[in-house]
Amino acid sequence: MPYTIKAKCPCCNKEADGLKEIDEKFGWRIPNDKTIPQSYCRKCRAAHCKAGEPCKVK
Ligand SMILES: [Zn+2]
Repeated sequence: MPYTIKAKCPCCNKEADGLKEIDEKFGWRIPNDKTIPQSYCRKCRAAHCKAGEPCKVK
């Protein structure tokens, strides 16, 4: 059964739909045997965006 997974960056509101897009735009983290998407997209992480601060990604 195919399953869909989505991610949305809370900072720049970028969305990724499906494993491939999440792989490209967000990346993954594996905190404890679970593979889950990064909450922030790659660009925001690269720009060191933080919650409560304006997004630095243009
Ligand atoms: Zn972002």
